[in-house]
Amino acid sequence: MRSGKLYWPNTLLKSLARPARQAPQRSPFTQNMSRSLLRLAACAGLFVSLCLPSVVHSQAASAPNFVMVIHGGAGAILRSSMTPEMEKAYMDTLTIALRTGYQILSRGGTSLDAVEATIRVMEDCPLFNAGKGAVFTAEGTNELDASIMDGRTLNAGAVAALQHVKNPISLARLVMEKSPHVMMVGAGAEEFAKSQGVKLVPPHYFWTERRWKGYEAEKTRADSGKTGAVPGEERKFGTVGAVALDKAGNLAAGTSTGGTNMKRFGRVGDSPIIGAGTYANNLSCAVSGTGDGEFFIRNNVAADICARVRYSGVSLQQAADDVVMKELVAQNGGGGVIAMDRKGNIATPFNTPGMYRAWVTSDGKITVKIYKD
Ligand code: ASP
Repeated sequence: MRSGKLYWPNTLLKSLARPARQAPQRSPFTQNMSRSLLRLAACAGLFVSLCLPSVVHSQAASAPNFVMVIHGGAGAILRSSMTPEMEKAYMDTLTIALRTGYQILSRGGTSLDAVEATIRVMEDCPLFNAGKGAVFTAEGTNELDASIMDGRTLNAGAVAALQHVKNPISLARLVMEKSPHVMMVGAGAEEFAKSQGVKLVPPHYFWTERRWKGYEAEKTRADSGKTGAVPGEERKFGTVGAVALDKAGNLAAGTSTGGTNMKRFGRVGDSPIIGAGTYANNLSCAVSGTGDGEFFIRNNVAADICARVRYSGVSLQQAADDVVMKELVAQNGGGGVIAMDRKGNIATPFNTPGMYRAWVTSDGKITVKIYKD
């Protein structure tokens, strides 16, 4: 595991360097001030987290097992196309996110709290395609989706096509806990957010230079008549997710995304679909997925893995491998999942070159991985 000072590549820090089309013009002084404050706030949080010991020890040897796994998206993530700085930034941020969840679980907090808090850290980081770092739609806007599920009660909450909510995972949880519904979308979801006291952010909050460049490259390609996505960089999906088992033996899962680059506005992928991108049931397992959402929806990926564990008695690893490495591969559906059963066994199969992933066990041992090897 790596620890130490987090290096933010310059491009990632320029997240608010250019206002989006919808943004009102502000004076250079105000822009600089808010940029500095934002960076300061982000860095302060990161610094505090990085000062924590890299291995946090569990409180008692007899403490029940608790464990957490997270992902930061699967895709064409190759060692050969990664700079050491970028690799370190990803590994450090995954570690910070995981520690956030670990601390909640180690103090006896719920898996739901751990999943939400951990995903919020990744939503606030421009590295991932969720929250702050969301990709752009074909129209140059951002539309965010998220869902969360409680394996103890089977309660679930989901939101889609949000344009003004900084942390969609928390709104998904509010839908689950403060409404009789499971899923809310677009303007209705944002009205509900306001009614719950959630502060909305202007659309330009989600503007980052890296994603905008990806959008422009894909748009130029599309305008010139070429079909398909730009190879390489932008084929990394970057969605984030977490699954956790708490000391009380309860599972939870959550997923948050900006969707796919250049998606049509109004398109919704698997991440907010309970059963497709997210599922948790104490009787079987908890799953969060990342990849070609349409395939995850058609195959009901997350729920299918849990159903196999529950009804056919295969191991978690077997069930997850069969769905991700066989079913999806046979259909050309790219992606991966993180999965955990009620005993705390974990599986992280992916059929793409890489998947950002990390896990922590009760003894505080953190493992972070990006590539296949
Ligand atoms: N599954 C997400 C979607 O289709 C994309 C991703 O995982 O990056 O919206």
